[in-house]
Amino acid sequence: ATPTAVMVATGVGANNGVLIKGGDALERAQMVKYVIFDKTGTLTQGKATVTTVKVFTGMERGEFLTLVASAEASSEHPLGKAILQYARHFHFFDESSTTNGTLNDAKELNSGWLHDVSDFSALPGRGVQCFIDGKRILVGNRKLLSENGIDISTEVENFVVELEESAKTGILVAYDDVLTGVLGVADPLKREASVVIDGLHKMGVIPVMVTGDNWRTARAVAKELGIQDVRAEVMPAGKADVVRSFQKDGSIVAMVGDGINDSPALAAADVGLAIGAGTDIAIEAADYVLMRDNLEDVITAIDLSRKTFSRIR
Ligand code: ADP
Ligand code: MG
Repeated sequence: ATPTAVMVATGVGANNGVLIKGGDALERAQMVKYVIFDKTGTLTQGKATVTTVKVFTGMERGEFLTLVASAEASSEHPLGKAILQYARHFHFFDESSTTNGTLNDAKELNSGWLHDVSDFSALPGRGVQCFIDGKRILVGNRKLLSENGIDISTEVENFVVELEESAKTGILVAYDDVLTGVLGVADPLKREASVVIDGLHKMGVIPVMVTGDNWRTARAVAKELGIQDVRAEVMPAGKADVVRSFQKDGSIVAMVGDGINDSPALAAADVGLAIGAGTDIAIEAADYVLMRDNLEDVITAIDLSRKTFSRIR
């Protein structure tokens, strides 16, 4: 392609909200064999919503939610935010009242309803831990609980499996080292996701999904989209290794992601595509920035490269 063709393509991209960082990135996209998608916030809307709350002890539901919300109050994770929002609604929005959807208690404003927590820690790929009145509370996945010696009964395990098989994430809660309850969280797919996966197949490109979420949920989501190749329970640092494993035979690999966790993988990929609504660090690590937060632009990016480098000479 001539420099003019590259300039034209870059301009066409920009007009569509596809920012291309240089001619090399534009050239590599035509040769992509695998496109690896992050799940949360990339294939899904990243708008996690609590759909299920189940308490397994005698604890009152409201108190359970306050405990979990207090533990998640300092979390930056979308799952933590979803839980906090759900608990806030449970306590402060009275559906029977006429002030539908408005705040009806000033306490909500200053978080006065939450417990004081100490020694908060966010454990990447696992969940959160902190202490309330000297009692430990753990909120996260099976790995978090088992690493901390908490027993998961068959009843709880069956409940979590059922959530996961319907594409939800099960979040387990241990309070004072007793498994107290489980929350189910759903994160809807982006509307265009399955069309884009179909489109890639038709272009001869193989879509792959990578996620820190558990295998069962990951498989359920991948199945809905028609993605055959899934890598789940990948620790945040492991996404770059997944990219490298696909590059081993010399294949050109693209990675699409949005979060801080995704930036090493975006940098490791031959073509890194950051979803525009994502974090600055992801945007910095990427070769392409998709400003519109629309997955169709992954196809636009590959198309643009193919057209620039194989037809226009
Ligand atoms: P993803 O790749 O889907 O963004 P993460 O690596 O961020 O996944 O998280 C992996 C898993 O760790 C989540 O699916 C969840 O089970 C657990 N987890 C992480 N952070 C939290 C949190 N703040 N609260 C509850 N669970 C969490
Ligand atoms: Mg993500």
